[in-house]
Amino acid sequence: MIEYSQALTELEWIPKPRLAALRRLEIETVEDLLTHYPRRYEDRTHFAPFPREESDTPILVCGEVVKTRLVRFGGWKKIFEATLEESSANALSQPLVLRWFNLHYVQKMIATGQRLVVFGKPRLRKNRMCMEHPDFEVIEQDDEISVHFRRITPIYPATEGLSQRVFRGLIFATLENLDPESVPTLLPKGANLGSREHALHEIHFPTTTAQCDAARKHLVFSEFFAMQLLIGSRRSAAAVRPGQAHGAGGLLLEQFLRALPFDLTTAQERVILELRRDLASTQPMNRLLQGDVGSGKTVVAIASMLLAVESGSQAALMAPTQILAEQHYSVLCRWLEPLGVRVALRTGARQEDNAALPLFARNDDARVPQANNPNIIVGTHALLYEGVAFENLGLAVIDEQHKFGVSQRARLTSREPAPDVLVMTATPIPRTLTMTVYGDLDVSVIDQMPADRGKIVTAVRGREKLPEVLLFIRKELEAGRQAYVVYPLIDESDKLDAKAAAAEYEQWQERLRPFRCELLHGRIPAPEKQAIMERFRRGETSALISTTVIEVGVDVPNATVMLIENAERFGLAQLHQLRGRIGRGAHKSYCILLSDEKSPETVEKLAVLEKTSDGFAVAEADWEMRGPGDLLGTAQSGLPALKLGNLVKDADLMREARAAATAILAVDPLLESRENQRFRQLIVEQHGRTFSNVS
Ligand code: ADP
Ligand code: MG
Repeated sequence: MIEYSQALTELEWIPKPRLAALRRLEIETVEDLLTHYPRRYEDRTHFAPFPREESDTPILVCGEVVKTRLVRFGGWKKIFEATLEESSANALSQPLVLRWFNLHYVQKMIATGQRLVVFGKPRLRKNRMCMEHPDFEVIEQDDEISVHFRRITPIYPATEGLSQRVFRGLIFATLENLDPESVPTLLPKGANLGSREHALHEIHFPTTTAQCDAARKHLVFSEFFAMQLLIGSRRSAAAVRPGQAHGAGGLLLEQFLRALPFDLTTAQERVILELRRDLASTQPMNRLLQGDVGSGKTVVAIASMLLAVESGSQAALMAPTQILAEQHYSVLCRWLEPLGVRVALRTGARQEDNAALPLFARNDDARVPQANNPNIIVGTHALLYEGVAFENLGLAVIDEQHKFGVSQRARLTSREPAPDVLVMTATPIPRTLTMTVYGDLDVSVIDQMPADRGKIVTAVRGREKLPEVLLFIRKELEAGRQAYVVYPLIDESDKLDAKAAAAEYEQWQERLRPFRCELLHGRIPAPEKQAIMERFRRGETSALISTTVIEVGVDVPNATVMLIENAERFGLAQLHQLRGRIGRGAHKSYCILLSDEKSPETVEKLAVLEKTSDGFAVAEADWEMRGPGDLLGTAQSGLPALKLGNLVKDADLMREARAAATAILAVDPLLESRENQRFRQLIVEQHGRTFSNVS
């Protein structure tokens, strides 16, 4: 008997070379093997009679090879032909000619006298019934027929180094000898989906299509359920940590809002209320703030930090790039210095603070804690590592969360007592994904843009249109606006690319003369980068020739034109992010996507951006075109990859699984009861696999 958890090396009947091939597919245990699910099935339930006419649906026939021959044509090209005859041939039957072009190995596998099963579309060629490049299998022993034929037959994804047939044989033999008792069924009580062992049989070798569907449902549900248990237990582990209540009166916040040059949108106000409630509670806050590019997340972040500061805590704001951290720092200094709040910058490249606050900035009304340490620390990844001492971190805000991973978030927030955590992202994702990727967080959404925003017009243009585009850009610059020119670099750290960027820059200086341009890319030293951004912000430079270093967060409302070179090389989400750098003021803005690629996918992709500037619509289109795979990056979500479930197709099952997991954890948050031990075990295993990089 084979045990479900056994290593394949213990199964002596599997030859060594096969084990090696399996290991390359990351299949090491019986469980791995049995959860390498079929990609699709072929209905090989019945052998068809030999065909007498053409057909567009492939058919399955079985017969004997009576003749083979090699036909040469056009010099070195070869066609290999095998003639197949029906076993019970009658007067009406006519032989079937199988043909392969230039496939050397097929010739070696097929010989006269063999019995063959073939699957393909019959075609009439010069009065002969033929099949070209059919799938075929040689029948060596009759009992093999029952494994590979006369059934709904599984076809597996990548089986490099192993033929479908060998792979299928391995799974068949394993299932035949599997000890049913050794297969744990991990479903909530009352799920009523049968045993996992039965489901595994049916997913690999279905008796009927309906049985196969039922098996899939069992396995997808249990996969989702395990995932939601993991997410839920993270959530409850976070909830029971001792946190801090930040219940300040909000005087500081009021002063801040009063001084703002604009009114908050209703959505911003609502979200601030939600945050305020979380902050005031002793349970640690774990909240995700979603809002399209330009919807005004920064103001909301500042509001929450002020509440923490007024309650006597320090707050941290973490950004994914140096440029964005610098920008946040200067915005915070500008807005908060008058309130007497001390702000510090901590990036790998630069450390600074406004310690020398002028005396008049003391804020006695709101009583900002005047410690020796900054009230707010802004930084990049450097914040995660040694050297940044937080006196009493009460709130951590992580901007552009999608650029960080879960483990990085954990690193900043795992201290005691647990700080409140706000993560912000401009990547809107469908609900099923939110409850998966961000399932351990509460969600707030800013679903409204500030009212005074100018429109963004987006247009795709071929390179031949560059002269006209240039005229247009110059007109905008003459009117006092500013422009970004973005071009793709494959690797920011590559010297060659830096050289290409410099060459590009010279060209642009020519094209836009006499307007001032500057070059910006990742290899420019940080202080200089900062100076370049500052000159652009102040309007001393008209155009920024840049790589994607400006992708996230950069906010210069006077910039109204963005030209993106080789736009086809970027993904939709990234293009939308880039485009979010313009349209941030009251002026109408223009995004020009330069591309010469005419493939249907590219045309369709870029057309999405022409049609809409709504981030949610872009995300949905992206999701439809690419599938959710990329969105659910394992590193980012810290979740195991899905083997069978599909987040779009199986959204309902995900909802059910989430409800089931939540119900269990509501009664037993740490899974301590006896009946929940098997779930606890499961989580410990999953944790080992996905969280090994977090202490
Ligand atoms: P994002 O959500 O992309 O991070 P920001 O927070 O950078 O957006 O805000 C974009 C710009 O809009 C900033 O210049 C900000 O000062 C401004 N802004 C934020 N809220 C409002 C508002 N309610 N009305 C007008 N402008 C606003
Ligand atoms: Mg932002």
